[in-house]
Amino acid sequence: MKTVYSINDARDSIRSAKTQGRTIVFVPTMGNLHDGHLSLVKKAREVADEVVVSIYVNQLQFGPNEDYDSYPITFEEDQALLNAHDVPLLFAPSSHEIYPEGAEHHTVVRVDALDGMHCGKSRPGFFTGIATVVAKLFNIVQPNYAVFGEKDFQQLCIIRKMVDDLMLPLEIIGAPIARAENGLALSSRNGYLSEEEKQTAAILWQTLIRARKAIIAGDRDYDALHRVAFVKLARAGFKPDYFNIVSRHTLQPATLDDKELVILAAAGLGRARLIDNIQIDL
Ligand code: AMP
Repeated sequence: MKTVYSINDARDSIRSAKTQGRTIVFVPTMGNLHDGHLSLVKKAREVADEVVVSIYVNQLQFGPNEDYDSYPITFEEDQALLNAHDVPLLFAPSSHEIYPEGAEHHTVVRVDALDGMHCGKSRPGFFTGIATVVAKLFNIVQPNYAVFGEKDFQQLCIIRKMVDDLMLPLEIIGAPIARAENGLALSSRNGYLSEEEKQTAAILWQTLIRARKAIIAGDRDYDALHRVAFVKLARAGFKPDYFNIVSRHTLQPATLDDKELVILAAAGLGRARLIDNIQIDL
């Protein structure tokens, strides 16, 4: 595997693959790779000839009291994993490369329709930071496809909308959530959890499953389901942030006419903030 650190080197490598007629699929990450990221790489390999992975911890998406300074960095291990999974190109730019004049006063991309709800409500500026860096990475890599995890469901919707609205010439592919044996969605931030908290953390997934079962069985009192889930999570030791039953397309509160739903959930546990979701087809 070749690792490139500069935009010029990334462009040169990708250009030479493209001139050989090879299609490019891109998997952006923040590193500290786990099986969730690797499942994206596997999916990527199915859709195009050359997989490009990036590792970049994007300062613009972290709030002032968030974990930018302590975000887990395991670069050598990540390189070894990607190498073992036959990834031909890793792009690992520095912050100076991505924000040469600093991230302040930088031009941003804000996906207005989906930005202020769910995670965007609790983390102002988060999705603008993501959309901005992803737009930059798309312009650098110019892939035919990019793969994003359904684990970050709102993020996936925001990237899709950005690509549609700005008419970017690539296709976005969603990949299913990779989970630990107990159901906990894999995440780099799970490293913040103790072994005991990891067991408790699975209750978030169980709560989602229970709500889905109730809805499939005919329960349409979404407000009550929301309240019950909050109580259950709080009793288990979480600090629930949201548990929202929404339309999968608009991410607005589900109405009785909506048939394709997703429940989006976020809750604090110990030092970690966990997010998860479950899709429902009625
Ligand atoms: P991150 O490094 O956390 O920014 O994630 C990079 C990409 O991996 C994003 O598209 C995430 O949605 C995806 N991802 C993270 N965790 C998982 C998981 N457990 N299952 C599937 N995809 C994931």
